[in-house]
Amino acid sequence: MSPAPATVPCQYRTGKTLGSGTYAIVKEAIHIKTGKYYACKVINKKLMEGREYMASVRNEIAVLKKVSSGNRNIVTLHDYFETAHNLYLVFDLCTGGELFDRICAKGNYDETDAASLVRTIFTAVKYIHDAGIVHRDLKPENLLFRTKKEDADIMIADFGLSRVMEEEKFQLLTEICGTPGYMAPEIFKKTGHSKPVDVWAMGVITYFLLCGYTPFDRDTQQQEMEAIIAGDYKFEPEEYWANVSSTAREFVSECLTIDPASRPTCEQALKHRWLASDSPHFVEDQ
Ligand code: ADP
Ligand code: MG
Repeated sequence: MSPAPATVPCQYRTGKTLGSGTYAIVKEAIHIKTGKYYACKVINKKLMEGREYMASVRNEIAVLKKVSSGNRNIVTLHDYFETAHNLYLVFDLCTGGELFDRICAKGNYDETDAASLVRTIFTAVKYIHDAGIVHRDLKPENLLFRTKKEDADIMIADFGLSRVMEEEKFQLLTEICGTPGYMAPEIFKKTGHSKPVDVWAMGVITYFLLCGYTPFDRDTQQQEMEAIIAGDYKFEPEEYWANVSSTAREFVSECLTIDPASRPTCEQALKHRWLASDSPHFVEDQ
């Protein structure tokens, strides 16, 4: 006899596990009354001990709920529950998988497709920033496709709670997950981590989309961190970059500006000629 399914307080029945991340497990959830499917993020409260802390988490969730419904490329938070041990966040279900897996399957993205995807993600990041929120953990594992279709909407997931969970997350990220690859230099220097960290991460993501590997990949985490702080990356090996325009490289370089104050904002990045229009923006050097 199979065990009784876990019941998310009152209205949902949880199903298969969709993924797990730094501090949570995400499960499929069926809304019992309507039969609609959602994704339910289950966060263990042990990670957030302390009363004061819970108050800021609740506050953050209220903001997230409001903001997440305002842009079509952001995963909407529908519902929120709490039990003695867990927090449950009910989101739109994305069935198309992570951008990470699509990049791996394709090898890399064709430049026009990459530009279009980057434009869409940047527009959604700008929307988040305009609402006063920094994502802080932009990476291809947190970018999901709404459906399995080739031209499915790309969706930003996993934001909003990172500010209140920052300490734990930072430790877990570096200790367990082991890849600081998308983190901006100022995070390691502990000199701040506001909106520009997301633009840096977008630079790393764009690099990854164009060639199929990340710019600061090194043998050890220490070397990776040092490379990030020094902004030490190259558009190499040449065979992976042969078909990539200088406009695209320039765009990546601007997003990977070491000084956060000199890095473009989302608005400025969106005005860069690589993204600014649908016209053939990289014709000039082909
Ligand atoms: P964490 O903060 O622990 O990284 P995430 O919110 O990133 O948690 O979720 C972890 C993983 O679960 C994601 O990388 C993704 O594979 C899956 N996932 C998260 N949200 C959804 C969703 N709305 N629909 C489908 N899968 C999801
Ligand atoms: Mg995540």
